[in-house]
Amino acid sequence: MIISVASGKGGTGKTLVATNLALSLAREDRVQLLDCDVEEPDAHIFLKPIFNQSKPVFIPIPQVDEEKCTYCGQCAEVCAYKAIAVIKKHVLVFPELCHGCGACSYLCPEDAIAEVGREIGVVEIGNSKGIEFIHGKLSIGEAMAPPIIREVKDHIVQGRTTIIDVAPGTSCPVVEAVKGSDFCLLVTEPTPFGLNDLTLAIEMVRELGVPCGVVLNRTGVGDKKVEDYCLKENIPILLQIPLDIEIARLYSRGIPLVEGITKYRETFLKLFHDIEQRAQSISGERDD
Ligand code: SF4
Ligand code: SF4
Repeated sequence: MIISVASGKGGTGKTLVATNLALSLAREDRVQLLDCDVEEPDAHIFLKPIFNQSKPVFIPIPQVDEEKCTYCGQCAEVCAYKAIAVIKKHVLVFPELCHGCGACSYLCPEDAIAEVGREIGVVEIGNSKGIEFIHGKLSIGEAMAPPIIREVKDHIVQGRTTIIDVAPGTSCPVVEAVKGSDFCLLVTEPTPFGLNDLTLAIEMVRELGVPCGVVLNRTGVGDKKVEDYCLKENIPILLQIPLDIEIARLYSRGIPLVEGITKYRETFLKLFHDIEQRAQSISGERDD
């Protein structure tokens, strides 16, 4: 089963939920944790994995053979990202804007465009406390997170429980990470910002057809509007984590919650079994 852990808003406790869910499960199941927040991966701070593989990630970018080029301009016309321009007798490629879609080389009438790999980041694979740990890291200055996320997700092994730590927000990298999940946990906080961003995240997962539930973090602050919204929209709140200075202290020291306050291990196991039941019953309904 693949469970993605997302949040409309940054700083809500998404990594706290993803890492502690994986650590709690690792005692009774074969678990993978994929950190797909490739612009700012931080799950490794809590799991402290030992990495044994590192693979660079490349995207194909155009390389123009000006001997063959007639400067017809078709490559520039087809590029939706303005990553290639034809100015008089010159073809300029802007590698940082190129999405590696291949349209320009496919459509070049003179077969003047070859594709060369450009490194945009790395995927690292390791182990920690019985968990297979994989994360992606986008190189500084690069903008193309989805190809790295796809590379990280290529390591999903069927038959295992896979937890995916997703970037905050609802943009392309989030959609890339969440799609294909059996269930998405949306972590939020009981504040107006938390509610606003939760509504956007719920629209996204509904569009993707992924069932979801909410984890409400730092309860005790803010108001009841997130709970009222979830009730109205028939979205289950599967776990509430109180605002607690001890949880914040552990987090700031990179100590997983289930290791600092061990009773939370049961809490996260219960959360997993609840998700498992819901995902199975939803998939049963879809089959009927
Ligand atoms: S489409 Fe091909 S031939 Fe035309 S300008 Fe681009 S590289 Fe040159
Ligand atoms: S590969 Fe795609 S994004 Fe890159 S320059 Fe060609 S058309 Fe543009």
